Amino acid sequence: MKIHEYQAKELFREYNIPVPVGYVAFSKQEALESIKKLGSFPVVVKAQIHAGGRGKGGGVKLASSEQEAQQFADEILGMTLVTHQTGEVGKEVKKLLIEAGQSIARELYLSLLVDRETAKIVIMASTEGGMNIEEVAEKTPEKIIKVYVDPLMGISGYQLREVAFGLNIPKTAMKEFGAMLKNFYNMFVEKDCSMVEINPLILTSDDRVIALDAKVDFDSNALGKHKELMELRDLDEEDPLEVEASKFNLNYINLDGNVGNIVNGAGLAMATMDIIKNAGAEPANFMDVGGGATAEMVENAFRIILADKKVKAVLINIFGGILRCDIFAEGIVEAAKKTGINIPVIVRMEGTNVEKGKEILSNSNLELTSAIDLADAAEKVAAAVK
Ligand code: GDP
Ligand code: MN
Repeated sequence: MKIHEYQAKELFREYNIPVPVGYVAFSKQEALESIKKLGSFPVVVKAQIHAGGRGKGGGVKLASSEQEAQQFADEILGMTLVTHQTGEVGKEVKKLLIEAGQSIARELYLSLLVDRETAKIVIMASTEGGMNIEEVAEKTPEKIIKVYVDPLMGISGYQLREVAFGLNIPKTAMKEFGAMLKNFYNMFVEKDCSMVEINPLILTSDDRVIALDAKVDFDSNALGKHKELMELRDLDEEDPLEVEASKFNLNYINLDGNVGNIVNGAGLAMATMDIIKNAGAEPANFMDVGGGATAEMVENAFRIILADKKVKAVLINIFGGILRCDIFAEGIVEAAKKTGINIPVIVRMEGTNVEKGKEILSNSNLELTSAIDLADAAEKVAAAVK
């Protein structure tokens, strides 16, 4: 689960990671109050959306007077911000962070993430902060330092120093940097993060270390342990269909293709997406209704997929086990009665009570195409979208 920069910086404050003084603003009026509260200039006006690259897209502006700060706040609030992470449709800006501007001597990069290969937490750091780190990784990978921390051992002094030396942290800032990195690591572990990033982490001209940007991503599977973090969720920033699906415990991910699919079981869902691609079409989603789905869950899954305007045909692939085929068929019939079907729907069903399930579907007078097997289903659905 991602959170906004202003929320991440709040968390940084709890862990004594230095951040600039700043206030979140939800309206022009609040922006003006925040500017006045800061009282000195420059002031930085920052769009709050769950995507990076805001600076390049015009969502981060440095103002040298109250008038200018106010003007930037007016411009950025409500704008549709397009960055390399939002896609071309962009994202409407509904919140701002108004911050005291800092004087930057150097911009560094620092992040922590779980490295699955080594089963460790990797610290990534670079002297080339502020800009696109993907570009640094591609063109000058030697400029990215990696230090692997064993989660059972925790972070050691020599590892803090290894990162500090790699970043050429001046002697006077060494202690402060070490404390900051240690706190950052503790936050990562205690809050069950999957990735945290500060880009840029700056050194000021008087050798202080400050996190100028803040990105925090929590491991969604651990959120049950952190009720306080759930309050930070911003549904405005999430895909509306994914939010709807999560209400019904459906494992749903919206994708770019036009073949909708409903499957029971994550493994079968992956295989179904593969055969759709193999037949020359592109899946519009991943939708796993789960092994123990009810007719109601099936109904909601079907409704959500039909609400997706880019979907031109649907492939339903069910292996009846715990979810019996007849229960599944009832769910489909109920859903179809309510929403109506105006695109081709191909059904492949096998397993417990398959005959009964097929009977329910054929007696329903719904326009469904049945497939004999997986390959047949994929070919039929691919043909339907061509
Ligand atoms: P991002 O573009 O979404 O990653 O947003 P950032 O928070 O990283 O801001 C983009 C850039 O704005 C930074 O890399 C800085 O160069 C610049 N910037 C942000 N805050 C300040 C500030 O307080 N002072 C100065 N001089 N520049 C800033
Ligand atoms: Mn940044």
